[in-house]
Amino acid sequence: MNDALMHDLERALAASEARFNEMIQALDALNIGVVHYGPDDRLRFCNRRFREMYASIAPLLTPGRLYAEIALVYAQERIAQGDRRTEDEIVAAMVGNHRAPDGFDSEVQVSADRWLLIQDRRTATGGVIGFRLDITERKKTEKALAESESRFRDLLEMSSDWYWEQDAELRFTVVSEGHIRQLGLNPEDRIGKRRWELNLEGVSEEQWERHRRQTEAHEPFRHFEYQVVDARGERHHVSISGDPVFDAKGTFIGYRGTGTDISQRKRYEARIQEMAEYDFLTGLPNRSLLNARFAQAERQARRAGQSLALLFIDLDRFKNINDSLGHHVGDQILAETAERLRRLVRATDTVSRHGGDEFLILLVDVGDPANVGRIAEQILADLARPFQVAGHELIVTPSIGVTLWPVDGDDLTTLVRKADVAMYHSKSMGRNQFSMFREEMNTRVHERLALENALRRALGSDEFFLDYQPLFELKSRRIVSAEALLRWRHPELGLVAPDRFIPIAEDTGLIIAIGDLVIQKVCEQKSRMASSPHAWLPLAVNLSAIQLRDRHLLDVLPAKMREHGLSPGSLELEITETLLLSESEVTAGILQALRREGMRLVIDDFGTGYSNMGFLRRFAIDKLKIDQSFIRDIPADYNAMALARGIIGLARSIGLRTVAEGIETQAQLDFLIDAGCDEGQGYLLARPESCDTLINLLDLQREADQTRMARLRFLSRLKGT
Ligand code: C2E
Ligand code: MG
Ligand code: MG
Repeated sequence: MNDALMHDLERALAASEARFNEMIQALDALNIGVVHYGPDDRLRFCNRRFREMYASIAPLLTPGRLYAEIALVYAQERIAQGDRRTEDEIVAAMVGNHRAPDGFDSEVQVSADRWLLIQDRRTATGGVIGFRLDITERKKTEKALAESESRFRDLLEMSSDWYWEQDAELRFTVVSEGHIRQLGLNPEDRIGKRRWELNLEGVSEEQWERHRRQTEAHEPFRHFEYQVVDARGERHHVSISGDPVFDAKGTFIGYRGTGTDISQRKRYEARIQEMAEYDFLTGLPNRSLLNARFAQAERQARRAGQSLALLFIDLDRFKNINDSLGHHVGDQILAETAERLRRLVRATDTVSRHGGDEFLILLVDVGDPANVGRIAEQILADLARPFQVAGHELIVTPSIGVTLWPVDGDDLTTLVRKADVAMYHSKSMGRNQFSMFREEMNTRVHERLALENALRRALGSDEFFLDYQPLFELKSRRIVSAEALLRWRHPELGLVAPDRFIPIAEDTGLIIAIGDLVIQKVCEQKSRMASSPHAWLPLAVNLSAIQLRDRHLLDVLPAKMREHGLSPGSLELEITETLLLSESEVTAGILQALRREGMRLVIDDFGTGYSNMGFLRRFAIDKLKIDQSFIRDIPADYNAMALARGIIGLARSIGLRTVAEGIETQAQLDFLIDAGCDEGQGYLLARPESCDTLINLLDLQREADQTRMARLRFLSRLKGT
């Protein structure tokens, strides 16, 4: 070989070596591990990244080393790292892979925290060129994802929530198991179906329509609610939410979302709803539900050209029951009243509690207003039946006001306000009745309010005084006592009748203070008469049932009498008859205490209430005052006469004196004398007059007595001579 040739060869070799080195440098710069085995299975070459990847066996990785040799050391390494296979098994597997005719592709975990993607390819000469890519990071994310997925799945299995997916046709492709299985249903049954092809309940046509539009427009949706009936036939409320899914190109590929069983929440909601709409004590709809029902009834009535009616019901003197018998008794009365009212109306009507002792009834499709009157009558009749509560027999009467829609107003507020006015009218007319609203009632209510204020003011001023009306022994026509009757002279209104202001005083509680005032005035009057020839005359005082429910009376009355030096027999107490009187423990106690003080008790307006003979005996009543209504119609009304005779006979049989009040005609007087009535009071005999007039009458009676006595004495003297 000549020098020139040698030189050329050397140059070419150097050039090729330089290219080779360049290539090696390039390979070493790669982030991929590269290895090359010749057909003889000896290592030809590996780059730096490859050596880094197999750092633990790096000293072996020198050109010329046999693959099997490397595999053996590597296998030992693996076993040291925790591989459970034997050395032979590992080497056999490695050599098998290495020699695989089509090459080898795999993701291999090479140590606890490292994954490699291995790709071995056969070269044209029968060698192997291999590439190694570190995929640890990707594997880690995948693993984390898988773990979170399985956690999510576990969660779904455990909770009442579930997960679902739909394809672009909105057919279910995935429905997670848990909840559906808990319901005893098969999630497989849903696959391939659209939501509206499932047997779901509780969704209106409108709601389906909206849901379908939303999903077809590929919009997200939230809280779509429906009901499923489980395998046991139990109904479950569920709520689902879903989001549309788009691929990288923005094409819609379906929906995915979750579902939740909201049955428990629905139950709470229903309970809260109930609490918000129903009265706790009576279970009746409350005002807010009535509002809703009214709105509905009004629409219906408008369409059908019907009318509605509203009844405002207030229980008379209910406060007294609460005060004297306790709230538990009051509550039971309210509950039973509610029950009675509910039974009286149709299912389409609404009975609601308005608060306290007030009830509202909305009647729909009433037709003739006369029908409403009939229902009001029925309510009055039905509530008149005594209530049996805690060993008491109680009568609770209602006062009712009625308004009609649309005549009296077209919104509920107006109807209620006017019905309230009409109800007050019923109360002022003597309670236990119903009144249809009339516009002029409005002014009466104002009048009542004005009276109430005036009454408060009057207590401080000197507007009250007493008139006295004598009571006569009928046979002898002699005055035997006098009843004090309260008068109120209002500065502008003039004389206001007790029938007008006493009920107001009772309702407002002012009657206690007014009653004290009457006691004070009667005692003063009585003590003024002490030194006169009329000191013997008993005076009668009217007591309200309200006063008899307040022990205050026991503090005031005996003390005032002692203060004025009055003996117990010098006053008679007139008590208006009510059933409640007989049933209240407080009242019974007060009456017995008064009785023990030696005071005489008279039952006023007898025949209008509900007292029984047991009551009369128990409290050792002295007199019965037969109500005016029995006397008024004598002699025209045989019934009244028979009743009056009956009362007189009965009273006499148990040793009670009887008084007839309101005697206006001679015929009445004759009848009463004939029937054996002991005493009488009335315009025929004497009107209520001032105390001075009473004293004049008494003086006259005394003069007449004296004249008669003188004449008698004179006559007897004549006879004697
Ligand atoms: P009352 O206790 O039944 O009193 C009898 C009423 O009948 C009195 O009416 C009296 O004026 C009236 N009267 C008497 N004779 C006749 C008659 O022949 N014909 C007619 N039509 N009426 C007659 P007055 O004074 O208007 O009192 C009405 C009611 O007011 C009394 O009924 C009583 O319940 C109550 N009242 C009066 N004063 C008091 C009082 O000081 N305290 C209380 N709590 N109530 C009183
Ligand atoms: Mg009286
Ligand atoms: Mg009377």
